[in-house]
Amino acid sequence: MITVKEALEHILGSVSPLGLERVDILSALGRIVGEDIHAPRDIPPRDNSAMDGYALKSEDTTGAGAESPVVLNVIEDIPAGYTPQKAVGSGEAARIMTGAPVPEGADAVVMVEETRSDGNSVRIYAEAAKGQNIRYAGEDVREGDLVMRAGTLLRPAETGMLSALGRSFVKVYQRPLVALIATGDELVDIDGAASPGKIVNSNNYSLAAQVMECGGIPLQIGIAKDNKDDLAEKFRDALRADIIVSSAGVSVGDYDFVKDVMEDIGIGIEFWQVAERPGKPMTFGAREGKPVFGLPGNPVSSMITFEQYVRPAILKMTGYENIFRRTIRAKLTEDIKKKRGLRYFIRGRIKSQGRGFVVETTGEQGSGILKSMVLANGIIVIPENVDFVKAGNEVMVQILDNSQDFTKDPEYLSD
Ligand code: AMP
Ligand code: MG
Repeated sequence: MITVKEALEHILGSVSPLGLERVDILSALGRIVGEDIHAPRDIPPRDNSAMDGYALKSEDTTGAGAESPVVLNVIEDIPAGYTPQKAVGSGEAARIMTGAPVPEGADAVVMVEETRSDGNSVRIYAEAAKGQNIRYAGEDVREGDLVMRAGTLLRPAETGMLSALGRSFVKVYQRPLVALIATGDELVDIDGAASPGKIVNSNNYSLAAQVMECGGIPLQIGIAKDNKDDLAEKFRDALRADIIVSSAGVSVGDYDFVKDVMEDIGIGIEFWQVAERPGKPMTFGAREGKPVFGLPGNPVSSMITFEQYVRPAILKMTGYENIFRRTIRAKLTEDIKKKRGLRYFIRGRIKSQGRGFVVETTGEQGSGILKSMVLANGIIVIPENVDFVKAGNEVMVQILDNSQDFTKDPEYLSD
């Protein structure tokens, strides 16, 4: 039996990022860029106006004020999207709209509110400083700048930046195809829920959702019967995926053949059993570098072991560097007793209180109690060498989702 830390190190040491693929920038949302992105041009591409108003020579406005307007000749109209045709000379101005290129000769824009149009001339009621209301070419991004490094997570801001740079496609890390195999003679699909003696193969649903949540692509291989032939057939079929995840059949029961079958088809077992609860029978193997996870069958065990081991592996293969959930220290609201020697993953509900957080368990913690996951927004992690934690002490909590951060009311407006 190995420790959680050893298991995790072993797994992460044996997986590496997949190759790159070229996808359109909207499909790349949430994925990791696989190339350094340099700006092929300035943004904005030309000096342009930040206001609707008049482009002029700032020196022409010296002495202008509410009682002493200067009068300039209007030589043209430059709407956004059009190129100025004339240079602005002394005593001249061009009417200009926000975003339109600043004409040659002009070094400032006076906003329309400080002017009054009068036929072919305009009265300017305020002095303009050089550069006023002009957005300069390259003030956002300069040609040649490194705008994004390989390894950057693509968020909406990066999507916008790529489009501004004229990129409609970008290289990102491939998403792993994750084969899911359920094992057990008792399993049926959802529509067989009422059959006597049978239980629904819920693992392949929770696991598929977990795969999707971290950006993998689930491949449903289905339910393998508890016999070596059927198991071997399903595992062979699964070998076309990048990662294989099975559940159940890895304990010491008479029908637990998953490990035997893995070896039979050339998947070397690298470890079996981890000092943890839930998830002790967890198995890990590999064939030609392809990771194979034999997760335990109980619905909570399979979800928790996925969280601890499969998720970080998927994220690493997808090019992520930050592959772990955020952990928060929170004050326990109840005593926790545990067995020394095993690391415990306890389902909990965390919420903020004052400046910190408090966490309570979600009740009955049996590894078949899926409701304990439904109620949870975090996993309380208690180390091997501890057998009791008293209420009021701080524990580490892995945050499963952001629900504890969301609020019904806009609290940022409560000032
Ligand atoms: P096993 O390790 O095969 O003995 O399975 C442990 C427990 O998990 C048994 O109670 C199974 O019925 C249950 N189980 C196994 N596979 C699944 C699955 N795919 N969906 C839901 N429960 C399962
Ligand atoms: Mg079984």
